[in-house]
Amino acid sequence: MNQPYRVLLYYKYVHIENAEQFKEEHLNFCNELGLKGRIIIADEGINGTVSGNVEQTDAYINHMKQDARFADMIYKIDEATGHAFKKMRVRYRPELVTLRLENDVDPNKTTGKHLKPKEFFEAMKSEDTVVIDARNDYEYDLGHFRGSVRPDINSFRELPQWIKENKQQFEGKKILTYCTGGVRCEKFSGWLLEEGFEDVAQLDGGIVTYGKDPEVQGQLWDGLCYVFDERISVPVNQKEHVIIGKDHYTGEPCERYVNCANPECNKKILSSEENEHKYMRSCSHECRVHPRNRYIAQHDLPEEEVQKRLNVIAEEINA
Ligand SMILES: [Zn+2]
Repeated sequence: MNQPYRVLLYYKYVHIENAEQFKEEHLNFCNELGLKGRIIIADEGINGTVSGNVEQTDAYINHMKQDARFADMIYKIDEATGHAFKKMRVRYRPELVTLRLENDVDPNKTTGKHLKPKEFFEAMKSEDTVVIDARNDYEYDLGHFRGSVRPDINSFRELPQWIKENKQQFEGKKILTYCTGGVRCEKFSGWLLEEGFEDVAQLDGGIVTYGKDPEVQGQLWDGLCYVFDERISVPVNQKEHVIIGKDHYTGEPCERYVNCANPECNKKILSSEENEHKYMRSCSHECRVHPRNRYIAQHDLPEEEVQKRLNVIAEEINA
């Protein structure tokens, strides 16, 4: 069935002259088209995800194809029932993906070998191979390639340091890396090569492309793929669905992300609807009793009710 809306995901590492000015023009253009989404513009390129109807997204792609810098940019296209974003944001950043390396990597010069989904699928099964997830811990926890390494990081910029501290795990191995759409691995795999790892490859087009590949159909992927829009997650494995996400409170299988109600924490936690109410959508006791707790405000909970729920939780902990 053809859905009336589409979500585009794309990136291109290419030098953009006067990137801050280009950002302004690009925002105006996207607003004129009626797109919504999030686009990063940097001197080193563009990284975006936008939603719109078929006409709007086609107009965007056609416009970008007229520009020599973006003419060969690849779009991952998901069909959707409506917009996947509330607003249209275009931001200028010093880097497309924040790594803040002392010696920055130009993926057009140094990057890991690009493997098509079928090649990546085969490579994962070969000996002496280690698969490194180049995403954040909360993305990994919702879904990942079976047997892949989970770096213990909250943000991408912590990844190089984490690799350095765990170097012995990877030395002498063939390294495969993957991320959502590929933009992070372009740099990360290049950095691995510069660090002295010799056999480094990356999943071309990322998880999103892998899940759509007619041959591999997302095999060896467990769980869902976290995405940075209102859908929160998309399916990958078309052959089987293994739930690996675990409820933050009970450890039961769960694929529903909520943000901790303490605005100063805002941590992503997997939680059933029932537990969201029981634990007032907070990751810890400190967050539950935080004076600005959003759950308590949203539900207009009187103090007796808050106390009642805290007592129930305390009883269970002490039981
Ligand atoms: Zn919290």
